[in-house]
Amino acid sequence: MSEPEIYCPLCTWRPAGSSRWRCSSMMGGCDTVWNTFWTGGVCPGCSYRWEITICLACKKFSPHENWYHWPPRPIDEIERQLEAERS
Ligand SMILES: [Zn+2]
Ligand SMILES: [Zn+2]
Repeated sequence: MSEPEIYCPLCTWRPAGSSRWRCSSMMGGCDTVWNTFWTGGVCPGCSYRWEITICLACKKFSPHENWYHWPPRPIDEIERQLEAERS
């Protein structure tokens, strides 16, 4: 089982274990500070699931899921080729 690489989809900044995000009270959050990648974007304070995650380097928001970059899986490639041949 391979792990996804986690980095900003816009500037490729990689969050460190010591990086922290805030559940923004300005956006209706509870002000908890934590590392959002430990919980998949879920605030441990109020259980709110953040669909967007701000980059601490470029200060731009991206959908949380876009931060996960999975290595290409060869089996997917093969299936795609089979699909292409069939159509
Ligand atoms: Zn919260
Ligand atoms: Zn960035």
